[in-house]
Amino acid sequence: MSELKSSTRLLRAGRPHRGWVNTPVTRASTYVFESVEHWRQTRSQRESQRMASYGARGTDSTHALEDALVELEGGHRAQLYPTGQAAIAAVMLGLLGPGDHVLITDAVYEPVRRLCAEHLGRLGIRYEYYLPDGSDLAARIRPQTRLIYAECPGSLAYEMMDLPAVAALARKHDCLLAVDNTWGSGLLYQPLALGADISVLAATKYLGGHADVMMGAVVCTARAWPAVQRVSIDLGQTVGADDAYLVLRGMRSLAPRLAMHGRHALAVAAWLQTRPEIERVLCPALPGDPGHVLWKRDCRGTNGLLSVEFKAGVAQADIEAAIDRLRLFGVGASWGGYESLVVPANMLAARTVADWSGRGAVVRLHIGLEDPEDLIADLSQALDTLAR
Ligand SMILES: *Cc1c(COP(=O)(O)O)cnc(C)c1O
Repeated sequence: MSELKSSTRLLRAGRPHRGWVNTPVTRASTYVFESVEHWRQTRSQRESQRMASYGARGTDSTHALEDALVELEGGHRAQLYPTGQAAIAAVMLGLLGPGDHVLITDAVYEPVRRLCAEHLGRLGIRYEYYLPDGSDLAARIRPQTRLIYAECPGSLAYEMMDLPAVAALARKHDCLLAVDNTWGSGLLYQPLALGADISVLAATKYLGGHADVMMGAVVCTARAWPAVQRVSIDLGQTVGADDAYLVLRGMRSLAPRLAMHGRHALAVAAWLQTRPEIERVLCPALPGDPGHVLWKRDCRGTNGLLSVEFKAGVAQADIEAAIDRLRLFGVGASWGGYESLVVPANMLAARTVADWSGRGAVVRLHIGLEDPEDLIADLSQALDTLAR
């Protein structure tokens, strides 16, 4: 099977060997055993082998989705969580303890900053942010550093880092490397193949793909799995069978959806680059973007995400009024559904190491599956009012 392309493998993973095309939804809490001996034996084996024992320990529905995620990311095992944020929290709490030090990218998904501020310090875990391109990582690493936490490309500005080089640094200092791979969603970027130990996914985004389900996932190498498995059991992390079914259903069309999002985003980006009020379009797939060379080397395409940096003189209030005039872009978070979205980004709050002072306002767009000509016409009528 290893010679098959990833999009083909994605259609075959997590399916029954015969009969129905899709794994039926197994809604379950209690599993009834044949005997006390069967019950006892299952309990002694259920952490080293996958078996039915209790709803929270997994059902056919969650196992099917985990299998598909392992196939997609090329990992050893996967664990599901009710949100992407919960998946990130499990990685931090499972791998770190009092006295440990963690290095976190300055381009991190912003709610992770609060997780660190409110909980890591309280637990005696020291954390520190590093530049989105990772160039200061070697200087910041300490003997107590247990984990490097990356996100590539980064949130909002999509900064790239040289992940294989960071993985080599992590190995040299005997610490683990975890990467938020929500942008790449397993098809566009593969952190484990590039040397990471853990890939974290907000399945809420492109895997679900239809803005109708929340979920997170962690896919691990064999080295990282035991700690992630233990903390997930101890924190009671699981997902419902219907939600697992929805995400797996969404994943069957991941490849064509991502290809179309990417095509539309590049068409909209090319038009945005001609606009006088825009300083630059942030997207590593664009030649001239600081991350373009690494994107070309390590990524297999781009998605629907673009951020727009306005000229420094364009006022935030005028930009927000223009956003309110958009008809096809909803003002909302959680991109990755089929629809177009827009939100203002506060880069001065979203970065504490990288210097964004003096730069123009940033707006994040998620380019959906609508016809890009319609999206461009909508953006055009909204931006034209800025010029007046
Ligand atoms: C949305 C997002 C998350 C969190 O996912 P939720 O399911 O909304 O909790 C994590 N990381 C990145 C990069 C995201 O964009």
